[in-house]
Amino acid sequence: MDVGNLSNLMRKTQATILENGFLGKRLEELRHVVASDGVRAMMESALTARDRVGVQDFVLLENYTSEAAFIENLRKRFKENLIYTYIGSVLVSVNPYKDLEIYTKNHMERYRGVNFYEVSPHIYAVSDNAYRSMRTERKDQCILISGESGAGKTEASKKILQYYAVTCPASEHVQTIKDRLLQSNPVLEAFGNAKTLRNDNSSRFGKYMDIQFDFKGAPVGGHIINYLLEKSRVVHQNHGERNFHIFYQIIEGGEEDLLRRLGLERNSQQYQYLVKGNCPKVSSINDRSDWKVVRKALAVIGFNDDEVEELLNIIASVLHLGNVQYKEEEGYAYITSDTQIKYLARLLGVNGTVLTEALTHKKIIAKGEELVSPLNLEQSSSARDALSKAVYGRTFTWLVNKINASLAYTDESHKDASVIGLLDIYGFEVFQHNSFEQFCINYCNEKLQQLFIELTLKSEQEEYEAEGITWEPVQYFNNKIICDLVEEKFKGIISILDEECLRPGDASDVTFLQKLEDTLGGHPHFVTHKLADGKTRKVMGREEFRLLHYAGEVNYNVNGFLDKNNDLLFRNLKEVMCMSENKILTQCFDRDELSDKKRPDTAATQFKASLAKLMEILMSKEPSYVRCIKPNDSKQAVRFDEVLIRHQVKYLGLMENLRVRRAGFAYRRRYETFLQRYKSLCPETWPNWNGKLSDGVSTLVKHLGYKPEEYKLGRSKIFIRFPKTLFATEDALET
Ligand code: ATP
Ligand code: MG
Repeated sequence: MDVGNLSNLMRKTQATILENGFLGKRLEELRHVVASDGVRAMMESALTARDRVGVQDFVLLENYTSEAAFIENLRKRFKENLIYTYIGSVLVSVNPYKDLEIYTKNHMERYRGVNFYEVSPHIYAVSDNAYRSMRTERKDQCILISGESGAGKTEASKKILQYYAVTCPASEHVQTIKDRLLQSNPVLEAFGNAKTLRNDNSSRFGKYMDIQFDFKGAPVGGHIINYLLEKSRVVHQNHGERNFHIFYQIIEGGEEDLLRRLGLERNSQQYQYLVKGNCPKVSSINDRSDWKVVRKALAVIGFNDDEVEELLNIIASVLHLGNVQYKEEEGYAYITSDTQIKYLARLLGVNGTVLTEALTHKKIIAKGEELVSPLNLEQSSSARDALSKAVYGRTFTWLVNKINASLAYTDESHKDASVIGLLDIYGFEVFQHNSFEQFCINYCNEKLQQLFIELTLKSEQEEYEAEGITWEPVQYFNNKIICDLVEEKFKGIISILDEECLRPGDASDVTFLQKLEDTLGGHPHFVTHKLADGKTRKVMGREEFRLLHYAGEVNYNVNGFLDKNNDLLFRNLKEVMCMSENKILTQCFDRDELSDKKRPDTAATQFKASLAKLMEILMSKEPSYVRCIKPNDSKQAVRFDEVLIRHQVKYLGLMENLRVRRAGFAYRRRYETFLQRYKSLCPETWPNWNGKLSDGVSTLVKHLGYKPEEYKLGRSKIFIRFPKTLFATEDALET
């Protein structure tokens, strides 16, 4: 063999090693044969490959209970641009913050129809595995993506969608659906994403998307459910953050005559709702070209020009609303200029005088009689902001419904379509100051964790049972107690909050906290500043309660809980919106709301109900998991911030996950796969084993000297307890 060929061989071997994390002894021998320095250098690096790149599946870590070993493995791989690692079938992904060239069509082909373990870990492997399970087992699938803001959830979900769009069969109709599925992303991101301190393109809503496939495996439809849009961003942004992208896109990219029609100027800083964060431009975002993408995407989804105009009228109205300014005279607010009211009347198709009245008065119905009372400056401003939030929030939901209508399959023959669901939802949040929003988000994460525990343990148990292997119970922390603390009827936190929201009289955030203390004091996962002996806990504020979540402790400040949960819009503002001639708003504000005597559900109760539905949806499917990790807080490639990563490993419950996975057997393979790979190690199985597969595997492992306690033979798979057994076999293969 000449040096050129050898060098090629070495390169290939090295690539295989890098991808698989296995090291061959044969290389060591070759080192003595070959003189070329270049080749030797390559071999040297290959020899240290496993050391350098770590293991591609955490279950293969010798010291699997050590968090330090876990993080070290992650670090090694990250350094080599290997951002994906498994824990069994769970994919752990570290955001590289740079383009890695691993999402090409060639990569997609490499993963298509190939078994999970035969190729290096990748989001495409998870996508393909879910797709094949759906096709072969005819079981609906879901892929749950979690991680904190900026960890790469949305990018992962887009990669999965692209994978299906490219690799699944297509016909003309299917192509339209594929296009719409893909184009729904820029539209929802324009209206639902914003620049935050953590992420330039942060999703400010949770999203669950079903992709529906026909019997040929082609995508024929889709459906999206949105969760808890952060509406407060419409009227306020923290320093260094922005409002939702769409506002800047229209202002920067909108054609001259469009802006004229909307009454907008090409300067975002003219608008009160866009100046709060003092951050009009973001270097990684081109609002002008993004607008073109969104405009096209709206067309693909099926918006005609009139509908786009109606939609933009609403977006522009929100900006005009923000510029409605008040002054106060003798305690009563009045609007200082009618310029905005004129725009609003035209854009929304409402009566300007009625709108002005509604923005400065409040109407309530008491004992069947209408009572109108004037508002002061502060009340008027918050009524205006409540209207902006309601209009934007409801328009967003309308938009999701509109996209759903365009993704709905019309063909009856697709009635029994199979489904892959994608969940891209906010991860556990702990800030300096945590409020109602964090409470809801962390509650959501408790529910997902509960589902994860149940399903992981369940699927482990089911696999053991299916394989006829005795199930050994695993000790784990069941977080049901925390879910109950939040959601239980009558004495859960949400019930207590709702009770205070409904109670007339002196109900306030403070009385809510008192009620919490009275009802939940002494609960092992609930803490306030009050100690049982009447003394106070100094480290906690008097307006805070602490929950001991599965992922750690979080202090919540009760300020604003009641208002946010009530999410009230004065009746007269609702009335004005119901009179609007804007076709979208007529669908968003239903007259029934006015006649309905029943109070609408509170925000927390609505969220609780939507989570319960989500759990039902997910429970009916076979789950796959993608756990995303953010390597640093400065959005930099290369930097691996250990402290930050350790937190995420904890919040994502990865060590617990690994422990459960390793509690029984670290490694399992189907007989044919195992035999195929290792048959050369035993004269009786080489070159072919003609008997029963299980007998072949049994003969093989006995020949290799496996001890009875090291493995078990199931119906179709071999289960290996320790990674070292497998490593030894791998090494034997190479010698
Ligand atoms: P949020 O909860 O705020 O919505 P997220 O988890 O959805 O956060 P993403 O928006 O997916 O985070 O990712 C943040 C940024 O990180 C992306 O805009 C992109 O720049 C980068 N990024 C994420 N994943 C990848 C990847 N696989 N390859 C390259 N860059 C990535
Ligand atoms: Mg996101």
